[in-house]
Amino acid sequence: MRQLDSFVCGGRHAGGAPQATLFNPTTDEPLATVSSAGIDFRAVVAHARTHGVPGLAALTFAQRGGLVEQLSKLVHGAREELIELSIQNAGTTRGDAKFDIDGAIGTLAAYARYGAELGERKFLYDGAGVQLGRTARFWGEHVLTPRAGVAVHINAFNFPAWNMMEKAACALLAGVPVIEKPGTSTALTAWRIAELVFQSKLLPEGAFQFISGSVGDLLDHLGGQDGLAFTGSAATAAKLRGHANLVRHNVRVNFEADSLNSAVFAPDLEAGSDTYNLFLANVALDMTQKTGQKCTAVRRIFVPRERVAEIEAELRGSLAAIKVGDPSDSTTRMGPLASAAQLADVRAGIARLAAAARTACGGAAPIRDKGCFVAPTLLVADDAHADVFHAEEVFGPVATILPYDGSASSAAALVARGGGSLVTSVYSNEQEFLEQAALGIAPWSGRVWLGSDKMAEQSLAPGMVLPAMVHGGPGRAGGGEELGGLRGLAFYLQRTALQGFKGVIAPESFAAKAAAAR
Ligand code: NAP
Repeated sequence: MRQLDSFVCGGRHAGGAPQATLFNPTTDEPLATVSSAGIDFRAVVAHARTHGVPGLAALTFAQRGGLVEQLSKLVHGAREELIELSIQNAGTTRGDAKFDIDGAIGTLAAYARYGAELGERKFLYDGAGVQLGRTARFWGEHVLTPRAGVAVHINAFNFPAWNMMEKAACALLAGVPVIEKPGTSTALTAWRIAELVFQSKLLPEGAFQFISGSVGDLLDHLGGQDGLAFTGSAATAAKLRGHANLVRHNVRVNFEADSLNSAVFAPDLEAGSDTYNLFLANVALDMTQKTGQKCTAVRRIFVPRERVAEIEAELRGSLAAIKVGDPSDSTTRMGPLASAAQLADVRAGIARLAAAARTACGGAAPIRDKGCFVAPTLLVADDAHADVFHAEEVFGPVATILPYDGSASSAAALVARGGGSLVTSVYSNEQEFLEQAALGIAPWSGRVWLGSDKMAEQSLAPGMVLPAMVHGGPGRAGGGEELGGLRGLAFYLQRTALQGFKGVIAPESFAAKAAAAR
């Protein structure tokens, strides 16, 4: 069985006992062990600070973008191998594995382009300068410089490739070294990427370290220039948020947590219209892609009460057509959940929802003797206001149809009951409905996706996170923000107000001198 090393302090570290075991969730066969026991986490942080910080700070945005481009090519070069590892360790179908790995490749490529656009600069101006004195001689500017610290990235199990590389892309382009920690149960894909990065020697020493297993006392060694970006459950986020050392040193933190995402079906939609069909296709896709283990998957489906029976029948039909089984079989559309722990959580969550709703299809019962399989499960509630639908994230192929009165304001109020979401999709061909719903939902959702006939043909499903658009959400969704083009660099940069003689600090002089001094 493989032992997944960590890549720290310039070398490989094979952890001692105790070990955690990674399994194939299709066959229950053990695949690999991980352990970070024996790692000196103080030394890991020091290595990043001593080597990674100056190594990256010496480069311009364009040069760092060049490195990010090479990382994209490196992952692309191993694409087939990574897909295979994902099928084995995460139970993904080939399509779902590509979703993760191509997401990593594409996001790296996008940030490489942003680096090229920023050019041969080592810092950025933020917004326009302002006159502070009687005349323009006393002037103010804001500049953004790379923080002189390390970024710790704690990632969720569901997107081992994308989650690690979307965070790394932003940090490395900004000029900040990273320490990556994948979710353990599916770490094999992330580990292989880290091994490739380590072997390639592409990056400056100390710019990319990787921990297999627990982070031990790593967070105790972070200081005021460092950052922690976390993706995972709200429960773990809550624990980390109160970490004494992070609080003491005001370590910068960004949390991406769980989310009860919604799809809103407006009353104007006619059966068979482009938007109607798009709604059905997207909801079925979002429920079952990656076996519903997607932070952006739809959990709550709001349908006008008089249309519930019709939509239930349509979705039941779509879900029945999805073949569940061995993900290495090319005809399979949905594989198992990623681990036995996930299976236990999802079955318990379905049971809690089913206590307040009718099960239209699927359910908590096992569907195979071996592996972590569960059926696509659609529930239908009579009372959309019951707390359980707005509090319980069942992280699997599970969603509930909730009736509403058909008004945009009611839909927005129900979406808000989720306490903050990553994405909400609204389907309508009425401008007024879309506008009211979007503005009512916006404070409660990091992304609002508006489906209508005019964009149906070109649209990408709401569950897809794009590097150009912000990812994150308020409240329960963690309150964080990632990606969004150059906005994604903000977490890793320090904004500083410069005040002085305009001739010294304005871009035409200061930046020109800084560039000349390079
Ligand atoms: P999780 O159990 O909270 O774990 C997330 C990460 O935190 C893992 O790497 C885990 O390591 C680590 N971790 C757990 N306890 C820790 C502690 N005390 N100190 C330091 N690290 C700790 O979540 P998950 O089960 O991997 O992921 C599923 C959840 O993530 C879902 O709720 C989903 O909605 C959410 N998610 C959110 C987003 C988003 O962008 N908002 C994206 C994807 C997933 P181990 O694996 O070693 O325990």
